[in-house]
Amino acid sequence: APADPVLSASGIAAGYGKIAVLEDVALDIGTGEAVGLVGPNGAGKTTLLNVLSGLLPRSAGEVRFEGAGLPSGAPRATGRAGIVQVVEGHRVFSKLSVRDNIELGGYEMQAAARRARLDDVLQTFPELRDRLAEKAGALSGGQRQMLCIAQGLMRAPKLIMLDEPSAGLAPILVDRVVKLVEDLSTRGVSVLFVDQLVDRVAATCDRVYLMRQGRIIGQTSAADPGFKSRLEDVFF
Ligand code: ATP
Repeated sequence: APADPVLSASGIAAGYGKIAVLEDVALDIGTGEAVGLVGPNGAGKTTLLNVLSGLLPRSAGEVRFEGAGLPSGAPRATGRAGIVQVVEGHRVFSKLSVRDNIELGGYEMQAAARRARLDDVLQTFPELRDRLAEKAGALSGGQRQMLCIAQGLMRAPKLIMLDEPSAGLAPILVDRVVKLVEDLSTRGVSVLFVDQLVDRVAATCDRVYLMRQGRIIGQTSAADPGFKSRLEDVFF
């Protein structure tokens, strides 16, 4: 675990109404660290991301970000603190232009700052630059995925959480996502990467948390000699 984590969660419990999903979850993410989170369907990965972004209130536990406690269930305050959750297809408006959709991510910025930021983000996504004036509805699934991430990056996150970014993507686009995770991490942006492609997650991330039935049951990394079997074990 990192000595000086940018995010540190402990004792997290959360669920939906009377359904308990997360139990006593703890996780740390270092500055510029790419951290993976893997586990079978229904393990609670998305639920944990929702708690960390404030979308879902927690019923117990603490989340600290850059040393300060984050309130439970406060997505706006959490976003302003620098945590961005990218949800596939969320906030993509097919009748708006690609440009307007990306800029939505920076709605709180001054116009000049927003333009500069857009320019910066588009360097990462040249295929979106070519299509700025088109309606988002005209994009392919992969391009829409890139649009979602671009929208998140508009906010200059300190921590970006990607939930299944490879879902439905052609292999070449999966490579793009993996490269993006590496680039972000190199630039000091922390990444929490959830994906079914566990081998890619393990190869890309500094560490991988293993989640099962609402609990973190361990962690591993590609440097761990037994990591392949540990990754498999979490699914059986
Ligand atoms: P997947 O890979 O399938 O997305 P996951 O690990 O992200 O799985 P979650 O989506 O967090 O898992 O789901 C954890 C548990 O919470 C599951 O049992 C799921 O049925 C339940 N759940 C998720 N969302 C809701 C909801 N809105 N209301 C009630 N139960 C929910």
